[in-house]
Amino acid sequence: MSTSSEGHLTVPDCLFCRVVSGEVPATVVATTERAVAFADINPQAPLHVLVVPRDHHADVAQLAAVDPALLAEVVGLADEVAQTEANGQFRLVFNTGAEAGQSVFHVHAHVIGGTQLGWSPA
Ligand code: 5GP
Ligand code: ZN
Repeated sequence: MSTSSEGHLTVPDCLFCRVVSGEVPATVVATTERAVAFADINPQAPLHVLVVPRDHHADVAQLAAVDPALLAEVVGLADEVAQTEANGQFRLVFNTGAEAGQSVFHVHAHVIGGTQLGWSPA
């Protein structure tokens, strides 16, 4: 872990740290001082945006423990995106651990919506 030129906690080989820095291109839809929202590369619904804190934390449990205000900022940005890009209704998913489907270990909220959603996680 190190500090980026913008002052964020960063991990060199982390995909979403590289999205935050602009090194990996992404379709950014909204930002705050400490969080970034960008389109998922493989959308599962009409609205499928990822919201990440600019600081690297591995998962939502670690983010909640270390910086709960930043978790609240991530949730607030998710709500803003759902208001702007859909009808304000959304599902917020934090896959936590490989068995739960987490493949990128920089915490990210999946903001899913824009249609009537089903419920079949397994
Ligand atoms: P996870 O499986 O960790 O919960 O979610 C990772 C998400 O990141 C997946 O939905 C996947 O489609 C998305 N993703 C993976 N690589 C990239 C990328 O390079 N750019 C963007 N925008 N999304 C990505
Ligand atoms: Zn990271």
